[in-house]
Amino acid sequence: MTTTKREVCHCEKCGNEAEMTITCQLIDVEVQPNVVKKKEKQTRVCTVCGNEADMIIDFDE
Ligand SMILES: [Zn+2]
Repeated sequence: MTTTKREVCHCEKCGNEAEMTITCQLIDVEVQPNVVKKKEKQTRVCTVCGNEADMIIDFDE
């Protein structure tokens, strides 16, 4: 499942308050041996400079 949203946030590369396209995807991350947790992977693409940044955040069901 992938969702896309747009949000204005500060870009670390170009320093602008830029609109970013954020693609969210649920992934499985092995946090310990045999313990798999669902996390949300966000890929942010700056619409000004094209910088891509990945973020992995905890996902609570
Ligand atoms: Zn930027």
